Amino acid sequence: METKKKDIRALTKQQLRDFFVEEGDKAFRGNQVYEWLWQKSAHSFDAMTNISKETRKMLEDNFVINHIKVDQMQRSSDGTIKNAVRLHDGLIVESVLIPTETRTTACVSSQVGCSLDCRFCATARLKRMRNLNPDEIYDQVVAIDNESRLYFDRPLSNIVFMGMGEPLMNYNNVLKAIEKITSPEGLGMSPKRITVSTSGVPKMIKKMADEEVKFKLAVSLHSAIDEVRTSIMPFNAAFPLKDLREALQYWYNKTKNRITYEYVVWEGINDTQEAVDALVKFCKFAPSKVNLIEYNPIDDGEFQQASDEAIDRYINTLEQHGITVTVRRSRGKDIDAACGQLANKS
Ligand code: SAH
Repeated sequence: METKKKDIRALTKQQLRDFFVEEGDKAFRGNQVYEWLWQKSAHSFDAMTNISKETRKMLEDNFVINHIKVDQMQRSSDGTIKNAVRLHDGLIVESVLIPTETRTTACVSSQVGCSLDCRFCATARLKRMRNLNPDEIYDQVVAIDNESRLYFDRPLSNIVFMGMGEPLMNYNNVLKAIEKITSPEGLGMSPKRITVSTSGVPKMIKKMADEEVKFKLAVSLHSAIDEVRTSIMPFNAAFPLKDLREALQYWYNKTKNRITYEYVVWEGINDTQEAVDALVKFCKFAPSKVNLIEYNPIDDGEFQQASDEAIDRYINTLEQHGITVTVRRSRGKDIDAACGQLANKS
């Protein structure tokens, strides 16, 4: 019976060096292979041209490279590219390239499906199947970096963890992936260009603050009134706004990093003056800004984007209180860009 081969990218550089020493080779060989795996994103041992044929064969006999595969790529008329990404076990996640005039942003997934139950989100319907490994997250970024160079002639500039899944429910792997993305041995990107978006898991926000992470934090707030938030994001019952608020204050005190609140305004749900006032109040607990996101309908019509007047009311009131507000238009509408929509179809 064939023993199961190990995923070589689960090894640290030191473990890889040790492996070669045990094999009677030089530790340095470990560095070379590590560079192929991460900086050069090799998909096969055969691609490692400065490694001897025998060594490649030996690696082949012992390990696999579980690289992701872009299964299906859709291009929107606005330039947005959406990848359906196949994992080594056949499961699918999505990642999206979002171009603007000056930037290319990668929106990446952290889990297959999601354990949270936001009622307006397509991914929530998939349920959580498993966490992504650090390399599966890293690979999505590399794939989008390549697409950005190919189609837009420039490297990837920003990363947001706003694809499928809740990053703080897969905390260790997300942090390991970010370590690799920011390391000179990986992509060498600045952590300031990375945003982790969470539905708001207070305990994990505090843990991140304690670890003095350098990336940015976005919180999907959508309502600053507990009853309303619980009705659209049921897990809010377990993590009420008071706890979230306290964790965010803690985050700011430790990191001095302003928080972004993501917020969709829906008709009949949070389009009242009372809702706006509650948001203004919530924004005052810690330095923050608000990103009003356009709703991406996910078919059953239960949720509908609020009127322009309601949006204007948010913008005006927030601005009157000195709170920065930006409006993010939905991108890639013609290609099922709401997270989870494409994978739901596959
Ligand atoms: N779980 C994390 C990251 C994934 S969701 C989080 O909740 O932040 C990324 C963002 O997309 C969140 O702000 C989420 O509320 C929002 N979102 C989910 N479904 C959406 C839809 N159909 N239209 C617009 N935004 C949506």
